[in-house]
Amino acid sequence: MTSYQIPTARGYYGEFGGAFVPEMLYPNVEELRTRYLDILADPGFRAELQLLLRDYVGRPTPLFEARRLSARYGTRVFLKREDLCHTGAHKINNTVGQILLAQRLGKKRIIAETGAGQHGVATATVCALMGLPCVVYMGAVDIERQAPNVARMRLLGAEVRRAESGSQTLKDATNEAIRDWIANPVDTHYIIGSVVGPHPYPDLVARLQAVISEEMRAQLLEKTGSELPNYVVACVGGGSNAAGAFYHFLDEPTVRLVAVEAAGHGIHSGHSAATSVLGTPGIIHGSRTLLMQDEHGQITEPYSLSAGLDYPGIGPLHAHLGASGRAEFIGITDDEALAAVSELSRLEGIIPALETAHALAALGQLGTGPDDVVVVNLSGRGDKDLETYLKNLDKLI
Ligand SMILES: *Cc1c(COP(=O)(O)O)cnc(C)c1O
Repeated sequence: MTSYQIPTARGYYGEFGGAFVPEMLYPNVEELRTRYLDILADPGFRAELQLLLRDYVGRPTPLFEARRLSARYGTRVFLKREDLCHTGAHKINNTVGQILLAQRLGKKRIIAETGAGQHGVATATVCALMGLPCVVYMGAVDIERQAPNVARMRLLGAEVRRAESGSQTLKDATNEAIRDWIANPVDTHYIIGSVVGPHPYPDLVARLQAVISEEMRAQLLEKTGSELPNYVVACVGGGSNAAGAFYHFLDEPTVRLVAVEAAGHGIHSGHSAATSVLGTPGIIHGSRTLLMQDEHGQITEPYSLSAGLDYPGIGPLHAHLGASGRAEFIGITDDEALAAVSELSRLEGIIPALETAHALAALGQLGTGPDDVVVVNLSGRGDKDLETYLKNLDKLI
């Protein structure tokens, strides 16, 4: 059996992945590709990462048995509390690892792209920690929409640069970041925020997020007597929290993996981000994967009320998990996610991020029984979404 975890030497998961980059970017990506595995395996790197994950990020995050939620769904539900990580979500697992990697590559400057601003904040945070200058590219429209995160990044000492081209959102910010990297190949590391981009990024980010499922296995053994649950459920934007939650279960065929996408106003409404259903193979951000595009190969704007899920592609690992049938994909609408926000808040006293609420909303669609153990990856907390929740109070209460 071939492993679902490890891509081929050229970065392929099945027919998805690879590295499609302009020639000018080739040396940067090649440097990363030839060195990342050795650096990740180095005992000094591992010790430093371990220490930061424990004392700075706050790991291990708890695995919480949600008893009232379990009673509601007639099954045993555990929540992996990534919402308790420093900065409020799983994204920092990746940025902490990548900043240590950048230091070992001798890089003196960090760039990143951000849509909703969460990855920008997680990157600005670790740059402050390490005293490295940080430039975050963000679409002009997103800068307006996500003012609190822009303020956070600036407070942390990062420079936020506006991307004024195209739709002035995430894909345009990504283009600007790539342009910067081409112009600064020697001293700059580009921290990508999800399991997307050219090889080796999807594998690099998956390995850094895999700490989530590594901890889950030990915690499940302690709490249920088995390292293996029946289901692991996670939301998918680019796919990094899902990759981390699935990683150490990918090659355990008895564990059902459920990836939850944002269906917006409905999968076929024309306002959705359900890439696994609506996407077709193509190249986006340097890898071959499923993406939402028109008949001319132009990317169509995705929609979700949740800013972290409206990405027009999914990581190549997830495209392969879908195509091979290893993971099941479910689409959850804005309204279903909002109902799940309210449900978790009232049943367990935990206000989830809107992205995370999509995963929670899938609980009713799994067909689970009383003996099943279900782990939902609670990717982030809801503080950043309070304004959205206030605007939709009628659907929450
Ligand atoms: C960014 C974000 C996501 C989506 O990103 P993935 O790479 O798919 O994990 C999900 N949940 C939260 C809380 C986020 O901030």
